[in-house]
Amino acid sequence: MNVLVINCGSSSLKYQLFDMKNEAVLAKGLVERIGIEGSRLKHEAEGKDKQVIEVPMHNHKDALSQVLFALEHPEYGAIQSLQEINAAGHRVVHAGEKFSASVVVNDSVVAALEECIEIAPLHNPPNIIGIRAIQELLPNIENVAVFDTAFHQTMPKSAYVYALPYEYYERDHVRRYGFHGTSHRYVSQRAAEMLGKPLEETKIISCHLGNGASIAAIKGGKSIDTSMGFTPLEGLVMGTRCGDIDPQIVTYIMGKEGLSLDEMNNIMNKKSGVLGISGVSSDFRDIEEAAEAGNERAILALDIYHDNVRKYIGAYATVLGGADAIVFTAGLGENGAESREEICKGLEFMGAILDKEKNKVRGKEAFVNTEDSSVKIMVVPTNEELMIARDTLELLK
Ligand code: AMP
Repeated sequence: MNVLVINCGSSSLKYQLFDMKNEAVLAKGLVERIGIEGSRLKHEAEGKDKQVIEVPMHNHKDALSQVLFALEHPEYGAIQSLQEINAAGHRVVHAGEKFSASVVVNDSVVAALEECIEIAPLHNPPNIIGIRAIQELLPNIENVAVFDTAFHQTMPKSAYVYALPYEYYERDHVRRYGFHGTSHRYVSQRAAEMLGKPLEETKIISCHLGNGASIAAIKGGKSIDTSMGFTPLEGLVMGTRCGDIDPQIVTYIMGKEGLSLDEMNNIMNKKSGVLGISGVSSDFRDIEEAAEAGNERAILALDIYHDNVRKYIGAYATVLGGADAIVFTAGLGENGAESREEICKGLEFMGAILDKEKNKVRGKEAFVNTEDSSVKIMVVPTNEELMIARDTLELLK
């Protein structure tokens, strides 16, 4: 079965075509600047030259038409005809409390996702548009929706209810949902395999450290706590997001600076995090370079970031009652050897001891702890697309 995995953002679209016989990636690519001047498709099929196709794409349906055209192109395509695409798997950010696992899409699923737009106004609309576009362009195949929130639906109520008047939970659905669930699920399953332990018996602290960042406490393969909350803003300091702050700061700054809701949201989501502290960049490579050159705010941004991740690891070790492994994934988690080293400084008390030599690894699976470390420290590159393709296959088998 060939599965097309689609991840629609507000002005972008990522895709991968899998042959699920052997989980091989037949083609992958990215459309950028959808609905904006200068839209382009970067496409790469296995064994063929990379293509950059610059053509106006006014909406996600236009973008998907171009993707399908590229996939069956005689020179740089991956398939002879679109009939070789047997199913589509879609990343959907928010399913609220409606779904705790992936589902085959039908009208009532789309209606449920539309109801979630209220709590995920930025993320869900493009995801739904992507599903609709495939339904129109490839009407004979099934679509599967895989949710970022679903994996965290196993959290106990004590982990997801906020200390606000209870009616905000009951009436307005304000609670911790958690995100990056597909990544945490993949990483915890893979880590259990690498540990040689049944998933049901593992306690894993999964650190997804990319542009967005979250940590999950995973017991027996189930999420029991996670750092992102009602939205992907809570928890860790991120590239441009502030993570945990005193909530009173929000109303204080708004009042003092005369800011609107949109302006304040923009500051917390786009102008904060390590970018806001350093004033240099949201990319850790730039910040590390500036820090090495002596930039004090860059040094401070890194210190705050590392301390913050370490604090969550300590908290989740307590939530889990000890851990088998601390797992690092996503852009910084997989590649940022210096950050891993800084984060793990001080975790020796709980039996997690980093091996500096082994920790030089970048972008591949590895154990980076010393022989005598009772808690394993691991790098496991995430693969959300493969997880989506596997769910799609599983549901349609
Ligand atoms: P992601 O959102 O998972 O694509 O992660 C993107 C982030 O990973 C970038 O903003 C970088 O800060 C970080 N990153 C990627 N490669 C490296 C690297 N070699 N060293 C340090 N940070 C990196």
